[in-house]
Amino acid sequence: MDKSNIRLYDTYEGKVRPFVPLDPKEVDIYYCGPTVYNYVHLGNFRPTVTFDLLTRFLEAVGYNVKCVSNYTDIDDKIIKASLEKKISEKELSTFFIKAYEDCLDKLNILPLYNHPKASEYIDKMASFIKDLEDNGSAYQSGDDIYFRVNSDKTYGLLSKQNVSDLVSGARIDVNTKKECPLDFALWKLTDDNGIKFDTILGKGRPGWHTECVVMVNSVFKKPLIDIHGGGFDLKFPHHENEIAQSEAHNHTRLANYWMHVGFLLTNGVKMSKSLGNSILAKDVLTRHSGNAVRLFFLSTHYRAPINYTEENLDASDKQASRYELSLKKATYKLALSNVQEGDPLNDDQELFLNALADDLNVANAMTVLDKEYKEINTLTMKKDSDLNRLASLVKTFSYMSNILGLRFDIPALTDEDRKNFSDYNLARINKDYAKSDELRKVLSDKGII
Ligand SMILES: [Zn+2]
Repeated sequence: MDKSNIRLYDTYEGKVRPFVPLDPKEVDIYYCGPTVYNYVHLGNFRPTVTFDLLTRFLEAVGYNVKCVSNYTDIDDKIIKASLEKKISEKELSTFFIKAYEDCLDKLNILPLYNHPKASEYIDKMASFIKDLEDNGSAYQSGDDIYFRVNSDKTYGLLSKQNVSDLVSGARIDVNTKKECPLDFALWKLTDDNGIKFDTILGKGRPGWHTECVVMVNSVFKKPLIDIHGGGFDLKFPHHENEIAQSEAHNHTRLANYWMHVGFLLTNGVKMSKSLGNSILAKDVLTRHSGNAVRLFFLSTHYRAPINYTEENLDASDKQASRYELSLKKATYKLALSNVQEGDPLNDDQELFLNALADDLNVANAMTVLDKEYKEINTLTMKKDSDLNRLASLVKTFSYMSNILGLRFDIPALTDEDRKNFSDYNLARINKDYAKSDELRKVLSDKGII
């Protein structure tokens, strides 16, 4: 596929536009990860699956992708939860990182290039904030260091809002120590019993918006990367504030493309912890396979909202099982006929990749996959079918489903399976129906025939 066909929706520019990475061979992606104070809900994994799909697609067309997502392990919510549980912040975040990673594994998410924790970049955050103070973009007031939003002429460009409207709409806080209600905290000077660090700024801890921008700069070792993403709700203020700091410190907008993933809804309302309508990802992944959850997310374009229901996930489970069974039967039919691995069907692969190149148009990509699935079924059931064609279909279907991140469990045939199959054929030739029925059951239970 011609890489110049790739187009992505960039929230910053407000349109779908050609994707041209800074380095012609490499793509950097950073998406905001979870604050690890609790089990995450299913909606948190929609960006994860989306950026995993994007990574797999970009790698398939020849890019080396460095995909990074962080853990926010410093946050007031973490302090509160660890005090309640009477354990350290570190113990708490380690526990929930492990729980999160179990879900990543079940969802077949590719290993990331880096998975930075905010707590490991404190000195870099402190010196970043010091630089902002030195150049007039930040100021200390009381025990907090704030970003001076009025110093950033580009503020509001990402979320398409202007500063004066934001100011007039801002909540009036009579106790505020801020120069402007939009100013946001970069560092809290504190000696309380929450997690804190001794730095050039004094004892305290960083604000969330600074954590991400510093981790992006540090992990990629550059001020501007290709793609920064996250859930739609992070666009404002989190990403706007990341950009403001990057503009003030590095004179760049941090990422050339800003991608935002739509909400997961439940009964038409955004799933969120604060609304109390969360469905935990770990629970969903005990009831449904990782393939099913991926297919559920892939059933809707990543920027559109998607509605969670158990029925939708049941339907995705059935779809995943149908694909697996079909692939299994075809694979075994080819193996039992000693047919060599097929050549890929280039036209179908091209159609599939071009669909994904169009801002991850998964609906069109799935149309190609389903067309192949149907033909695989037809050729598997039919006697005297073109087995080379079937082998090519299996090869291409596997290539495409791998880009979609689906993982199928197809155990290799054992010697016993092969013997049962030849005994079954012999029994049929000999009209030994009792034996052929018995072997048919054994073979069909394993999906071999
Ligand atoms: Zn972030």
